[in-house]
Amino acid sequence: MENRCPQCNHTLPVHTEYVKWCDLCNWNLNPLQPDKPKNLWETFYETLGQSQSRRLFEKFKQAPSLEPRMSLPRLLAILFSLFIHIVTISFVVVGMTLLIRGWPNIFALFGAIVCLLIGWQLRPRFAKMPAILPRGEYPALYRFVDDIAHTLGAKPITGIIVDDQFNASIGTVTRHRKQILTLGLPLWSILTIEERAALIGHELGHSVNGDPARTFLVGTALDSLLRWYEFLHPALLWEPQRGLFALVELPINLLFLIMAQLPKLSLYMLAYLLYRDTQRAEYLADHKAAVVAGTRAALASLEKMYFEGTYQIVRNRVTAVRNTNRDFFQELAERMRQVPPHEVERIRRIQQLEGSRLYITHPPTPYRIDMLLHHPVDEARLVAAHYDAHQMDAELAAIRDDINQRFNSLSDYYLQKLKRRG
Ligand SMILES: [Zn+2]
Ligand SMILES: [Zn+2]
Repeated sequence: MENRCPQCNHTLPVHTEYVKWCDLCNWNLNPLQPDKPKNLWETFYETLGQSQSRRLFEKFKQAPSLEPRMSLPRLLAILFSLFIHIVTISFVVVGMTLLIRGWPNIFALFGAIVCLLIGWQLRPRFAKMPAILPRGEYPALYRFVDDIAHTLGAKPITGIIVDDQFNASIGTVTRHRKQILTLGLPLWSILTIEERAALIGHELGHSVNGDPARTFLVGTALDSLLRWYEFLHPALLWEPQRGLFALVELPINLLFLIMAQLPKLSLYMLAYLLYRDTQRAEYLADHKAAVVAGTRAALASLEKMYFEGTYQIVRNRVTAVRNTNRDFFQELAERMRQVPPHEVERIRRIQQLEGSRLYITHPPTPYRIDMLLHHPVDEARLVAAHYDAHQMDAELAAIRDDINQRFNSLSDYYLQKLKRRG
């Protein structure tokens, strides 16, 4: 009974740790839903994606080039972002004026403090420079990444961070616009050298694909709006009161709630204006990956990203018992070699599933695959095989040991607690 599909009664193969699903009727194909939106911006993005991603995909497929162009929505987004910054700045200006002209009037002083506090709260913020891998100690890794940047005509990155996640990303920190590449060692460890080139090609592609949401002006405006919203939304501002206080609180909350709709609406408007351009930018980043490493490697690295479930299984196993000396990376590699065909097939089908995507801001995976196949790059511009993967691994050995040690010293109980908090 247990090993039959509840939908069509077909016999199901048993792989205890993997998802049980039916290859005849696709029952339970994708029980793990993708990440939930992290904030308002991603929520809007998801909604827009449901209505627009297919139409945009068809359009971009016909387009002669995916390179950035000035368009009316893009121009409006830039102007609108400028306007948002002007609003923030005007709070500071009004606050200063009230302070200087109104002195020592108590009302003027109060107004000045409120305005200046708002301005301070909403100022653009810059992430601090994280600890990056020193170039001198990781020459092979940096040369590989630098050469990919050079191939794409991208600015060389400032630094690389390696962590224990099954992921990779590129981000900008500090006001000097320093680019930091983050590589998750578990993902990195299961990629071939060509797939690694494709992974980096996509991430570095983000710095040359003209994504407006990643520009300084628009990016900081988005941050400001999110902060405006959090600042005004009463539920995020204070705890609900009881008794008499609740009576006083109610109209104030209502007022704030109404005011909070303004940044919310603005955020939606920006998301709407930028949506087309950011989707284009993602397809272009994929294409850059193909230019660097070839279409085949770009597709393969995209597929490997779907093995996060396997990463989780191995990670849970290693962390389940404390103080053992298990080699997480070796077990992951073995696991990857033994993934049952039934699970591989499941991942292939999820990739083809309408609406399936790796991250909310990325287009649905079937479109990304289709687009990569539509503009095939047979010959990779970078010969990844010329790079010494062994030396790169040797350079990363200490970090590998560190992660192993950490996974072995965390008990499952502790991890679960961490997860619940996060
Ligand atoms: Zn079935
Ligand atoms: Zn991307």
